[in-house]
Amino acid sequence: MLNQRAEAMLKVSTLSHQAEHRIEVFDTERPGIQRMDADMAAKISQIGFHPFLMVRIESDVIRKREYFICKTQNENSQFVKDLTNFNGLAQCKLLHGLERALQLETYDAAECWFSWVREAPGGPAETVYLGPPLSMDLAAYYGYPIYEVTSAKAVDSAERRLETLTELFEAYCRTTGNDATRVLLAEALALALSRSLGSRGEYHKAALIVDHALSLIPSSIHLKAARYALGLRVNGKMVPDRLAKFIGEDNGYLKQFVCPLPFERFEIGPSGDVLVCCGHWLPTSIGNFLKDPIDGILNSAKAQKIRESMVDGSYKYCNHLDCGHMVRETLPLPEELQRPATRRAVAEGNYRMDGIEFLTFGFDQTCNLSCPSCRTHRIVEKVSASIEKARAVEEKLVGLLPTVRVLHINPAGELLASKPSRKLLELIDDDRCPNLVLDIISNGTLFTEQEWNKFPGIHKKVRQLRISIDAARKETFEKLRRLGHYEPFIENMRFVSRLRAAGTIPQLNFSFTYQLDNFREMVEFVDFCASMNCNFAIFERLQNIAFSQDEYRRKAVHHPDHPLHAEFLDVVSNPAFASPRVWHDFDYDGAAKLTREEARNQLIVPPPVATSSFEVRETQGC
Ligand code: SF4
Repeated sequence: MLNQRAEAMLKVSTLSHQAEHRIEVFDTERPGIQRMDADMAAKISQIGFHPFLMVRIESDVIRKREYFICKTQNENSQFVKDLTNFNGLAQCKLLHGLERALQLETYDAAECWFSWVREAPGGPAETVYLGPPLSMDLAAYYGYPIYEVTSAKAVDSAERRLETLTELFEAYCRTTGNDATRVLLAEALALALSRSLGSRGEYHKAALIVDHALSLIPSSIHLKAARYALGLRVNGKMVPDRLAKFIGEDNGYLKQFVCPLPFERFEIGPSGDVLVCCGHWLPTSIGNFLKDPIDGILNSAKAQKIRESMVDGSYKYCNHLDCGHMVRETLPLPEELQRPATRRAVAEGNYRMDGIEFLTFGFDQTCNLSCPSCRTHRIVEKVSASIEKARAVEEKLVGLLPTVRVLHINPAGELLASKPSRKLLELIDDDRCPNLVLDIISNGTLFTEQEWNKFPGIHKKVRQLRISIDAARKETFEKLRRLGHYEPFIENMRFVSRLRAAGTIPQLNFSFTYQLDNFREMVEFVDFCASMNCNFAIFERLQNIAFSQDEYRRKAVHHPDHPLHAEFLDVVSNPAFASPRVWHDFDYDGAAKLTREEARNQLIVPPPVATSSFEVRETQGC
């Protein structure tokens, strides 16, 4: 009964979720929720309007009734404080999930709600109320759910709790106002429902819910993973071990590995936000380079939580669907960790770090091109912003440079078109940073011999040069590298190929983001890379950075629903992609690939200064 009703309702709300809001005043009893009582209605009347979040705590022991109220999402922080100060929060999983979701801990919130559905009755009774009392005309009713915890023992079944989560999800999709927080709640509820329904084999129903949530929050990394896994199940296919937990219980697969990147990496993005991995894979910021002191960023509460998630095996901030190390199964076991500081932090469970090993400088989006997969128009930073960033480089980075071992520059734009990036390159020399090596990413169109000669300090320090190309033919290149010209670009590639042949650049990689416009050139690209003396041809799936959802779906041939997906599968089955000189993220039926062991060995390509296999691999994937 639940599923038919939920499905029908979701279909309606999917079609109408952007239509004008109408408050639903239902007159039949609904499973999973109760109609609000007179006391709740009186509280709303007293406030003057229906608050976004209301929790009523009832204690028989002290005969006390208390409300926590959040009138609008702007008052979230006080409401969250009230919840966290509530003694019984840990036992009240429904309420705890709400607190986690409001604290932006989506994965934790879903975990709380999923385990609430599955736990045996006997904990505190938690109830959701929706709809005004039948006998009362409550003008200020806005359709937001009301939560209640009592000291009575819960007797509700798993079925009823599943109904409650579904009602909550529908209520947050259906209502209007407080949009930012409402959508966060819907995201976490959809993930909890994906896991709860998935664990019962109800994949189709779960997929409807996740699709609806994704229409509200298309960037959700966890919902995308859930949707992919549900799609596999709906089509009777196996789900990769790492994704099983998005549609059911956590099978513990990832607990055996420890990803070292959050212990070692510091990535400065265009807004100054600092990440510990590539933004597509782990988008959670640990601080802001322009606003916060370096130690405050490196050891912020979020930074330490992310590190902890590598050790507890939840990987709860990571994009399980797209992370290349998860896809290729190249995450190391704890005993394979290379760096003593990381091994120590993992062994001791102390997630404070003293220094930065890898610095990724993506501080400036300025570029001479405007590639359609990356941006809709050419981006050139304002002079005032460039000056402020250059000053931050001087004040904060120069002091750090002697401690950094690997500098990765500039994944956000074109380093040779960026003043802050050029400033940083000018500051590098053997005296200032004797142990530093550089991994450079560039579109290659400005990489001439004359430009190279303007930065003599880096000539002995480049470890890798990665050129992002995405084409093997002139017409494709000029379409996908908008404003670029093929012939001078090829001249530049011949120059970097000579640098590689001379050993000046120890590792040269060309990369290719595959999509509708270029996937038929993928095999040709492998040959092109070989002709230019490359170490690796790198293939990565298209991410949605600059497209509308529809345009992205039209381009993403790697997606199983794409009309040309079968042809794409035929392309990636070519044995050329199982070469040790090809690095790819293919997770597709019949794709040619190395074995896990070969893939791990492939990464141990020691440029002169590399001391660990992971150090090499982390600069290749994203
Ligand atoms: S590489 Fe993958 S597992 Fe490691 S931090 Fe990034 S997203 Fe997480």
